[in-house]
Amino acid sequence: MANHIQAIRGMHDVLPDQAPLWQYAEQVIREVLGAYGYNEIRTPIVEKTELFKRSIGEVTDIVEKEMYTFDDRNGDSLTLRPEGTAGCLRACLEHGLLANQAHRLWYYGPMYRHERPQKGRYRQFYQLGVETYGMAGPDIDAELILIMHRLWQRLGIREKIRLEINSLGTIAERTAYRESLVGYFKTHLDQLDADSLRRLETNPLRILDTKNPAMKAVVSGAPALMDYLGEASRAHFDGFRQILDDLGVAYEINMRLVRGLDYYCNTVFEWVTDELGSQGTVCAGGRYDGLIEQLGGKASHAVGFAMGIERVLALVESLADVPVSRTVDAYLIRVGERAERVGMRFAESLRSEVPELKLQVHCGGGSFKNQFKKADKSGAEFAVILGDDEVSRGEIAVKPLRLENVAETSQASMSERQAVDFFRQRYGKK
Ligand code: ATP
Ligand code: MG
Repeated sequence: MANHIQAIRGMHDVLPDQAPLWQYAEQVIREVLGAYGYNEIRTPIVEKTELFKRSIGEVTDIVEKEMYTFDDRNGDSLTLRPEGTAGCLRACLEHGLLANQAHRLWYYGPMYRHERPQKGRYRQFYQLGVETYGMAGPDIDAELILIMHRLWQRLGIREKIRLEINSLGTIAERTAYRESLVGYFKTHLDQLDADSLRRLETNPLRILDTKNPAMKAVVSGAPALMDYLGEASRAHFDGFRQILDDLGVAYEINMRLVRGLDYYCNTVFEWVTDELGSQGTVCAGGRYDGLIEQLGGKASHAVGFAMGIERVLALVESLADVPVSRTVDAYLIRVGERAERVGMRFAESLRSEVPELKLQVHCGGGSFKNQFKKADKSGAEFAVILGDDEVSRGEIAVKPLRLENVAETSQASMSERQAVDFFRQRYGKK
């Protein structure tokens, strides 16, 4: 075989047969976010390395070992974004969007992390991120949950995903907790793995987040952060839960749920599935008021989440019925010199009259038989047929290709006007 250049490990092409599934999910995402009045923000894929170090923190998996970092030609250290929160907040601070204003934003696009590729874990993957600023909650915290809940329902995967929530309290509360946690782990040093021993010094809460099954016992015996929350933090958490209860959104409280980052406070949550092995976290987020100041802004409020699209699509794909849309509704067959010219013109006027119709014109000539084969392969519901006979009679033939979809099964001849009406009725805006 020829020596083809291959894609980078862990970075995938979305091939044309997969694209409709992506477009379907993206469309549903846009509609759901629109229904809550959220607006899109687009930021660069590359940012200064310093931004991620300062926001995500030096002692995290991402910054320690997962970033794609390189020197720009002028020597600046740049990084392909491993997540979107930092860039979104950077942009809002830079453009002064946060001055006493509330914002509800979303972004969508590829993220980059140098991890060991496996099912559901890639080096380029897509995230939907939602970030809100300037709202103290807990109503906005709950609104984010409602958005995701609605999204799962719309995508038909609600039954496959469950919600886990926790509260991390304030930084002061966490500091007190941290001490007792470190005290506890120090009396169980023999049960900690190498990663956890290191984290004991740097980020002990992350030990609770371990994926090592051998540490399950020691982790489940650890003191619970919930017992260290003050009155305000408790009230926030209760208020959050109240809204979920009122709206019938089921959840579990998972006391071991810590998002590894220091800037989180109060509400944290994850949506998890049992259907994707150890890549079971589909969506995760929480409140991160502290990050705004950490990046040089005036103290305010922030809460958001990020969702892994590949993991969501894996769940959607496993459904029996995925309502992906057709690429081609009608396929125009043209045989003969006059038919080719008339056909091209008719196709353009049909597109002007019925913009919703997906019409593919056969190009490159060939016999009727050959063109019909292509029409069938295109997945179109109808073949639109123009031979020189039709042209002489001023007619167009329309033939249904998928019998189950239409009552009439045979080919029908009609005028141009009738053909336009025929397609407008079927595909035009209702
Ligand atoms: P994990 O525990 O699976 O490594 P994480 O805590 O690193 O996830 P976040 O940084 O919270 O993940 O990112 C939010 C979501 O993005 C995850 O819940 C997941 O769905 C998705 N995600 C994260 N890393 C990857 C990856 N390498 N490949 C595919 N999806 C990913
Ligand atoms: Mg990770």
